[in-house]
Amino acid sequence: MKTPVYLDYHATTPADPRVVEAMLPYFTERFGNPASRNHPFGWAAADAVETARGEVAALVGAHAREIVFTSGATESNNTVVRGVARARRRAGAHVVTVATEHPSVVDACRTLEADGFAVTVLPVGPDGLVDLDRVEASLRPDTILVSVMAANNEIGVLQDLEAIGAMTHARGVLLHTDASQAVGKVAFDVERGRVSLASFTAHKMYGPKGVGALYVRRHSVDLPPLLVGGGQERGLRSGTLNVPAIVGFGKAAAIARAEGAAEAARLGALRDRLLAGLRRGVPGLRVNGSLTGRLPQNLNVSIDGIEPESLAMALGDLAVSAGAACGTGKPTPSRVLTAVGVPPELALASIRFGLGRWTTDEEIEFAAAKVVEVVAGLRRMHAAIPRAT
Ligand SMILES: *Cc1c(COP(=O)(O)O)cnc(C)c1O
Repeated sequence: MKTPVYLDYHATTPADPRVVEAMLPYFTERFGNPASRNHPFGWAAADAVETARGEVAALVGAHAREIVFTSGATESNNTVVRGVARARRRAGAHVVTVATEHPSVVDACRTLEADGFAVTVLPVGPDGLVDLDRVEASLRPDTILVSVMAANNEIGVLQDLEAIGAMTHARGVLLHTDASQAVGKVAFDVERGRVSLASFTAHKMYGPKGVGALYVRRHSVDLPPLLVGGGQERGLRSGTLNVPAIVGFGKAAAIARAEGAAEAARLGALRDRLLAGLRRGVPGLRVNGSLTGRLPQNLNVSIDGIEPESLAMALGDLAVSAGAACGTGKPTPSRVLTAVGVPPELALASIRFGLGRWTTDEEIEFAAAKVVEVVAGLRRMHAAIPRAT
């Protein structure tokens, strides 16, 4: 086993070697610009892009014409929020989202407030799920968009898009889902909840960074583009297509469609073993978010009786996301954990494990043993510190 051990697959995934292999010719001999319509270099590139579009569409149950390539989920989310606001301004100026959404959704919604939009940010319960009655109650005659993620990037919980879709559909409100963490990890289909719009990114599913997609259901909304210029992607996203990355994304989608279900089953069993090991060795371990209705690749725990700042350091050759690790200066507790009601101290003393394609049994044994050992040490230290009274 090689160290450091990578268990941070929600932050990003390595590209699958098969993805890299598929991409390589598109940097060199097949370097053409798909917008070059009058020679074979352009045709070859355009063909490759359309093949990839078909693969991404097939993975999510969409038609190829409904897939627009972007630079990633951040761009897709911004395009949706700003675009719907502009396209539907006359119909209303109210959007609904959830406290645990990715910043590229929540912050994009917040920017609408300057333009006179009202934004409802729904809370979640201790399980991390938005309450369906609250969703229903939040819908107003002037609501134009509801944006709810499919799977959360910190606690992995899966929102009930089917139930939310039934509500939005009945009212003619557009439903958008950020499916960046769901797609390729669990079955995801745009027909489930009949979403109108969905965001994806390749680098969370073993494709390259800097490429993603936006699904726009046919006849649902005439989105204005964020970027204008050459009119690529049927005018929705100008700019020369990143052909090698798009080819890689397509290959990653094909692999996910073929292998995703088996992979999820294997990783779910490993995740359960990791949790069992942690529970045996760390008394009082708290699991953040619902354990059912969750990505099988995810575990997020909090540990009491330790100094949060020491945790990330002590984990050393275990590459995970630890609550107090990010940023400079005074660490701030995770917005997502705060939203699920985890107290600040415990939110800081949290570890997110993300398992992925190359996670082995051995690595899971190592991770459990490492955390158990580190926590025992930190708890001894913590208990020995004289407290001010
Ligand atoms: C990673 C992630 C994003 C951002 O995707 P980029 O392609 O890196 O811009 C958005 N939403 C969720 C849920 C994510 O996990």
